[in-house]
Amino acid sequence: MYKRKAIFFDRDGVINKLIHREDGLYSPRTFDDFNFYQDVASCIKQLAENGFLIFIVSNQPDISRKKMLTEELNKIDIEINKKLNIDQIYYSFDSKLVSGGSKKPSPKMIFEARDKWNIDLSKSYFLGDSIVDMECAKNANVSFILVRRKHNQDIEYPYYVDDLNNVHRMINDII
Ligand SMILES: [Mg+2]
Repeated sequence: MYKRKAIFFDRDGVINKLIHREDGLYSPRTFDDFNFYQDVASCIKQLAENGFLIFIVSNQPDISRKKMLTEELNKIDIEINKKLNIDQIYYSFDSKLVSGGSKKPSPKMIFEARDKWNIDLSKSYFLGDSIVDMECAKNANVSFILVRRKHNQDIEYPYYVDDLNNVHRMINDII
């Protein structure tokens, strides 16, 4: 049976800041636009020290829409792996929801990680900033914690943190 525990992080709006464009907030399309939130590194370090595997589970439809170059995403990944102790980054490049696809809220990326890394999802958590993340966690049957940032104050969820450094305490409260 599955044995290890994991934290699944959404990327945009949780790990890195969103980018202002004319009509709203979006995922960065270039390495130069990629900026970490200040609370990420210490949170991940603490969770890893407490035995959690760490994953990023992120929709990146701009790749298949040809709005972002794979080279830019690769540069971002190198930076993420340099600064953070991530076990594996999972991306969905699907531009829309299709049957059998991996785009969140599909639980497919989480199930892939579970099977490859021997993860007990009942001991694992998903940290996200959107309704889609919330639905993905529900579809995978993983406990969800809302990461409240300036851009998503309108979303309500009983378990939330305003600072990632409170995640560890929140998890202990849930248990
Ligand atoms: Mg997000």
